[in-house]
Amino acid sequence: MKLDVNALRYLTKDDFRVLTAVEMGMRNHEIVPAELVDRIAGLKHGGTYKVLRNLLKNKLVHHDATKYDGYRLTYLGYDFLAIKTLVNRGVFTSVGRQIGVGKESDIFEVATEDGTVLAMKLHRLGRTSFRAVKSKRDYLRHRRSFNWLYLSRLAALKEFAFMKALGDHGFPVPTAVDCNRHCVIMSLVQGYPLVQVKELQNPDDVFDTILGLIVRLAEHGLIHCDFNEFNIMIDNDEKITVIDFPQMVSVSHRNAQMFFDRDIECIYKFFNKRFNLTSEENEEQDGSESDGEGNSRPSFLSVKKAAGSLDKELAASGFTRKEQVEMEKYIDEDAEGHDSGSDDDDEDHSDEPNCTLASRDSGVPGTFSEEHGTSCSGENRLESSPSGSNGD
Ligand code: ADP
Ligand code: MG
Repeated sequence: MKLDVNALRYLTKDDFRVLTAVEMGMRNHEIVPAELVDRIAGLKHGGTYKVLRNLLKNKLVHHDATKYDGYRLTYLGYDFLAIKTLVNRGVFTSVGRQIGVGKESDIFEVATEDGTVLAMKLHRLGRTSFRAVKSKRDYLRHRRSFNWLYLSRLAALKEFAFMKALGDHGFPVPTAVDCNRHCVIMSLVQGYPLVQVKELQNPDDVFDTILGLIVRLAEHGLIHCDFNEFNIMIDNDEKITVIDFPQMVSVSHRNAQMFFDRDIECIYKFFNKRFNLTSEENEEQDGSESDGEGNSRPSFLSVKKAAGSLDKELAASGFTRKEQVEMEKYIDEDAEGHDSGSDDDDEDHSDEPNCTLASRDSGVPGTFSEEHGTSCSGENRLESSPSGSNGD
């Protein structure tokens, strides 16, 4: 989804007031009655209705008159609220090009006042799931009851909390900078997703490092659950950075062993296929004990015995138990259609539930071009204005 931030510059204080009112109304309504928006916004002389028409024209809200005259935010509207809040906070000043399209996110470069380029991940839960299930009507009806914006906000909150905690514990992850609504700001990783790498100087070392990370994560009480070549970035020195954490679970999750084994299996498979590392070679290198069946992969049970409590620390921090339960409900349902390692996103997005559709960005998903890091031009500079009423 193309993010055209131009309109952001022309939106007035009243526009944001009404946009924020729609957001507030969505806490209790899937479609917010226009009257309620008007009451929350509190603009004089029917001003709300005029503003709503402007927001609709800019595709920041969706109008629905099926049951009553009502509105809901589009993802673009939600993007604008988050971006404006972060710009007002001074986190960044301009939005640059799109650098990644994930299964359920869009990633853009943003630049700070001093020109530092960061990565902005906008979570878009419901995108693939919606696509995957659109033919199954019963399931779809059920899925619709999820509030995509709310789930995307949870995903961002979780990702931010986990990225921060993992960074604090010395894991190679992007630096967590800030988070608002469904948007996470983090350091830009210099490198490429491993899936794009055809050759490595030291495949054995990289394999060891990656396997070691899965084990060390579990020793800290956590499982990544989507640990594959799409979520591992590698730079020219073959240094690894792990990304993408919204689906992580604790080693005490009821399916922990399955998730752990699946992460390991993904890595074995990929290294075997891409770099011809055979199982025996791998087994010698990872130094695990054999289980007597010639299978010497890291064992979940032995790792779990030594597990620390980062999972519990996290549960006690920004990401609460209630939120974890809500996310897990979603992840569990999603697992039915899970196809790990399919971040390629080449379908059109015309069936997005809440998204405003603009032409797709020409950037190839997840690639880095020569001009990487230089694309946040002043052209897209967004003035921070104290008029924003959407800080939270
Ligand atoms: P999803 O959850 O949708 O799979 P990811 O977090 O895996 O999203 O990001 C999708 C793609 O965006 C990645 O494969 C990568 O190419 C790019 N990307 C994500 N985060 C960063 C970052 N911090 N720096 C550079 N590129 C990134
Ligand atoms: Mg990913």
